[in-house]
Amino acid sequence: GTTAGRETPAGDLRLANLTKRFGTVTAVDDLSLTVPQGSFFALLGASGCGKTTTLRMIAGLEEPTGGQVLLGDRDVTRLRPYKRPVNTVFQSYALFPHLNVFENVAFGLRRRGIRSVDDEVMGMLALVQLDDYGHRRPAQLSGGQQQRVALARALVNRPQVLLLDEPLGALDLKLRRRMQLELKRIQTEVGITFVHVTHDQEEAMTMADTVAVMNAGRIEQLGAPADLYEYPATAFVASFLGQSNLLAGEAAGAGGDEVAVSAYGRRFSVPAGRARADRGPVHLGVRPEKLHLVDSADQVPAGCQHVTGVVTDASYVGVSTQYLLRTDWGGELSAFVANSGATGPLPVGAETVAYWDPRHAFLLARGPREP
Ligand code: ATP
Repeated sequence: GTTAGRETPAGDLRLANLTKRFGTVTAVDDLSLTVPQGSFFALLGASGCGKTTTLRMIAGLEEPTGGQVLLGDRDVTRLRPYKRPVNTVFQSYALFPHLNVFENVAFGLRRRGIRSVDDEVMGMLALVQLDDYGHRRPAQLSGGQQQRVALARALVNRPQVLLLDEPLGALDLKLRRRMQLELKRIQTEVGITFVHVTHDQEEAMTMADTVAVMNAGRIEQLGAPADLYEYPATAFVASFLGQSNLLAGEAAGAGGDEVAVSAYGRRFSVPAGRARADRGPVHLGVRPEKLHLVDSADQVPAGCQHVTGVVTDASYVGVSTQYLLRTDWGGELSAFVANSGATGPLPVGAETVAYWDPRHAFLLARGPREP
């Protein structure tokens, strides 16, 4: 695929105060964001949060109630879908069943009146690793192969932005994992802006440079996958991306490099740089894999903080054992402990001490009525 790396026109994709209302439902609520040209961007959120509606407004398939869609300096908000340098890959693939793979991919080129399509189409088939499948009909392909054809068919048009609406949703887990890596490779190779919609946090984190977590038509947080995970901005993000133990407490204000927190009659601290709030009601957050279990408090390393508890559930999941602990104040904590093989998992009923390094904790503002 020598043609695959060709430059696309310059321009970031910008959504400015984009809003869509359906009657009384506000599907997308004053959404503003910038997708840098050539990046892999994921819109992540639960069903009904407004992801698809956002995508459809970028594609021109849905008219915004307010706000703008901009590509570089160009306002495309009122442009017909086919006039936009944007293509969409849908979950259903929507391949032409009566055309073979080659003709499916060639379709967009032929429609634009391009006669010699061989090099371009073969380049695309090579890119998606379907060089030898040009003569097959879609019905003679696996789901993953059909997905690749749909991708090649969209990319052959050299869009400035490729929209992907849950494109891997119909594939089984193993194939989905492979296609995630494949999509990432292809995006890097073609350098086209990808905007990917998914409700699968692992999928978004695996592929995207930037993930926007959506909730109720708004962006909760936007950032690199590791930043979202390590340093969530809200309790919603902390719970939506992986699991979090959130301890309800009160912060006493920053003193030096630390914020002191009291929770359940105990005192904890979090480095000031990891605190999004330092006064009043807060959530002290610790990821389950950041908890370590030892037999007694004197085994807790210096500088770490701990709570005591009893094991109420232990689920062996191969690489780790996932524990549920009941703390001495009656709360619940989950702890994921890597299985070393050296010692067996703790039994239900065992007393244990869970400790963490405060540099792995985070502090979030808590609404006054939030538990
Ligand atoms: P999913 O993952 O289930 O597709 P989503 O995050 O893509 O969800 P949207 O499809 O964008 O969510 O829908 C956002 C909200 O707008 C939902 O409450 C939905 O019911 C509503 N909605 C979407 N399309 C329409 C429509 N054509 N008419 C009325 N309401 C709509």
